[in-house]
Amino acid sequence: MRIAVLGTGQLARMMALAGMPMGVEFCFVKSPGEDSRCVDHLGDVVEATDDSHVADLYEQLGRPDVVTTEKEGVDVAFYEQFAQHCDVSPPSKAVWISQNRLREKTFLNDSGVPTAAFAPANRLDEISGLASELGYPVIVKTQENGYDGKGQWWLDSDADAAAMAKVNGVEDSGPWLLEKVVPFKKEVSVVAARTQSGAVAAYPLAENVHRNGILLTSISPVADLDEALASEVKGHITRIMNALNYVGVLSMECFVTEDGVVANELAPRVHNSGHWTQNAMPVGQFEQHVRAVFDLPLSVTPVSGVAGMLNLLGVKANAGDVLQTGQHLHWYGKEVRPGRKVGHINVTADDRITLEATLKQLQAALYS
Ligand code: ATP
Ligand code: MG
Repeated sequence: MRIAVLGTGQLARMMALAGMPMGVEFCFVKSPGEDSRCVDHLGDVVEATDDSHVADLYEQLGRPDVVTTEKEGVDVAFYEQFAQHCDVSPPSKAVWISQNRLREKTFLNDSGVPTAAFAPANRLDEISGLASELGYPVIVKTQENGYDGKGQWWLDSDADAAAMAKVNGVEDSGPWLLEKVVPFKKEVSVVAARTQSGAVAAYPLAENVHRNGILLTSISPVADLDEALASEVKGHITRIMNALNYVGVLSMECFVTEDGVVANELAPRVHNSGHWTQNAMPVGQFEQHVRAVFDLPLSVTPVSGVAGMLNLLGVKANAGDVLQTGQHLHWYGKEVRPGRKVGHINVTADDRITLEATLKQLQAALYS
């Protein structure tokens, strides 16, 4: 069993670390200039340039059985060409949908999954009119290439729309998507997997807290979450995966409001908000992904206790300080730079109070 991963970051690293015990061999495709330190010693790294032919790459990669991706920002035409040689999972259509927020929200609504009300804008001078129709406040997002909250503008009024239009370089960031602000109580996410034979398994939902637009902590199960609501979210992601004939792990970020749940976005891959599964589940999301793409049995067990994750954003954790009982350090082997995801700490506890206290303590110590 050999799998090629497009990308050489921490998600590729953790996929390999989870798949290797099952005898799966890994290899990686990097773009020119892409840092591949995260996957050092985990398998061959092959560079793909604009001139590379997929048939040659397939040979250089050692004829993998499956090509997968750790990121949505891949060249879809390139990715899909591997299908002439081996399995390509997840399907390229899912990657294509998730690359553009307009396509993604349209697809979600067409699949019966509610989202924030939205409207596309191709020109800056359309924005205030569309925002008034939707009703302020709105968030304007670039349709493509946004991540970690980048390329977003919160507008409360026509005056804010006018101010946005004057921001340096903003005219080149379009087209945009306007979204009505969702008054959410919580942000949650679900990570699920589907095999080639159509078996589906979803992990319990996690509650996510962001810091400067970047995920900081996840906790699962979500406190005070209606069981019916959790089932509804799992029903949505199952329907989506079946509709796409999806194979692999798929993640969906949602907002919980007074009136139910709305979806925010899909990630056709393992997800930062699912890292807690590594230490709280016998089969974590990375192994689950590998199982799914090789059509092996999936595994999700009931959670005993509470699990959480704290991201290390530009901060180094000293193993000696964060490996108390129930704490697990995952270090990515990257150079530490301000705000950069360089690792995470998973925490498990018997009860929520202990878990939250531990996360708080770690956060205070690491981000002092
Ligand atoms: P990431 O890559 O971290 O997932 P992103 O750049 O793709 O982020 P979103 O996930 O769409 O962007 O938005 C980032 C955050 O902004 C959300 O987690 C949420 O806190 C807030 N947000 C986004 N859209 C809305 C909305 N319609 N209403 C309220 N808050 C929102
Ligand atoms: Mg998001």
